[in-house]
Amino acid sequence: MHELPVVGGTSSSACESGSGGSCGSGGLVALETLSLEPRRRLPRWLKRPMPSTEMSFTSGVIEDLRLETVCESAKCPNRTECWSQRTATFMILGNVCTRPCGFCSVPRGKTEAVEADEPQRVAEAALRLGLKHVVITCVTRDDLPDGGAEHFYQCVLAVREKTGAAVEVLTSDFHGNREAISRVIAARPDVFNHNTETVPRLYHRVRRNAEYQRTLDLLAQVKQEAPGMVTKSGLMLGLGETLEEVLEVAADLRAVGVDMLTIGQYLQPTPNNLPVDRYVPPEEFDEIGEQCRKLGYSFVASGPFVRSSYHAGEMADLLARSATA
Ligand code: SF4
Repeated sequence: MHELPVVGGTSSSACESGSGGSCGSGGLVALETLSLEPRRRLPRWLKRPMPSTEMSFTSGVIEDLRLETVCESAKCPNRTECWSQRTATFMILGNVCTRPCGFCSVPRGKTEAVEADEPQRVAEAALRLGLKHVVITCVTRDDLPDGGAEHFYQCVLAVREKTGAAVEVLTSDFHGNREAISRVIAARPDVFNHNTETVPRLYHRVRRNAEYQRTLDLLAQVKQEAPGMVTKSGLMLGLGETLEEVLEVAADLRAVGVDMLTIGQYLQPTPNNLPVDRYVPPEEFDEIGEQCRKLGYSFVASGPFVRSSYHAGEMADLLARSATA
């Protein structure tokens, strides 16, 4: 469900020049003693623009309405760009997650009470930002009997009623609770998104407490109950997966009717999260995107900065246009 994060402190490593012994804090020996791995320098294609003053309007709305965003919680690398364009992805059901996913920087621990007025606050924020396509995601709430499905339902309805905008949900797996998933489907979101995140071999490290089959089942259920509803999923690259594995996952997702696929680079959000195994060059993203398109997806976005909700409105528009062309 989560967005892909950015490296915490991207220029952080005292040793990023690669000259080991030049570290001010004692050099290579000290690093070895402390069992710390030097942080890697970001490749040139992963540099992002500096913050702009336009961002303050978006952050003001978010702050004023006491909302959480995955943009901030997951340290998304696109925040400068998206917030400057008054776009954000709302994260409902609190800012504490019940799952220990290795890639994600959202805090985990004791969850917060669900706030009954949150649907109205999300709707108000969408209105003030002038959003035409609203993406709503959540923390995973295994502590709630319905995983927060009813609250999700209320948020979708509130946003639609107040703004008339299209709504995309980016949900947890609801622990496979089919009734809960049905409740979210009943809200008739324009896009039902649930991220696969990685290949099944890496689930125990990347998505602990989740199951690959459960994700496929959820996406299949959406298509069974609402055949016309657009379904979407996303993958991160750079965690140790192989190309063959990625294409197998893409084929599995297509086999359960997924319409849209997003593929982006994993970036380590904090030193406590999984390290990046590899920075995938843009040309390789292009090639993978091409191969996935051949599987019959209506829309594939593949690139280092692609995230589930990055330009989500434009993606949905393109899909709608290609369907009517
Ligand atoms: S890509 Fe999504 S999560 Fe990242 S800043 Fe943009 S809207 Fe937020």
